[in-house]
Amino acid sequence: CIAKKFKVIISPEELRDKLPKDYPYFIIDLMHWEKHTEKEKNKVALQAAQSYGVLRDYLWSELLALTWVNEEFKKKAHFPLEKITAYEGSTGEFLKEKGIDEVVLLDPRAEEVLSERDFDVRAFIIGGIVDTGGTKKGTTAKIGEALESEGIKVRRRKITLRGDIIGVPDRINHILKILFEMLVEGKSMEEAILTVQ
Ligand code: SAM
Repeated sequence: CIAKKFKVIISPEELRDKLPKDYPYFIIDLMHWEKHTEKEKNKVALQAAQSYGVLRDYLWSELLALTWVNEEFKKKAHFPLEKITAYEGSTGEFLKEKGIDEVVLLDPRAEEVLSERDFDVRAFIIGGIVDTGGTKKGTTAKIGEALESEGIKVRRRKITLRGDIIGVPDRINHILKILFEMLVEGKSMEEAILTVQ
């Protein structure tokens, strides 16, 4: 695979320069970090580390961006943050810096289902949310509201299996893998979901 070949022969700095300028970012938004219990924070950090692995498998780890990164997250993140794009500011600020004004927000409570038509955006956003107690229902939508208030156009999209979100694994790294199976491997949504079950 070309991505792996690049990794072997050039440094991460050179690689960053060579990335197509319009390649999308895959952003894990940590805006809701403080709403988590200690255990949930550990799970968010673990799923972020696994997401780093997913990016390395399919594309380049530099395309993984984490926003709202704080000191506590850095301590819990047992993977090399210098190999991804770790950003301490808000997602809105990050997008503005990159000149991106429209995103797809993956949201299980969205009205519309993700489709190929959505693959033209320059950023996909996944909530850095773990909800073991069911106390964070609707929090992904709040990420969208925050972005809209900063002037970003947000397409909220859900991933469904036979018309329902039940049966779709909701771990952050699994959502990312499903997205890549569709976006990079060209699989249907159902086939993509089967790869993480
Ligand atoms: N409790 C949160 C809510 O109701 O908004 C869901 C959190 S989910 C554990 C973590 C993230 O995975 C979400 O923010 C979303 O980006 C993504 N996600 C999970 N299931 C999804 C689905 N079926 N469709 C789209 N995105 C999904």
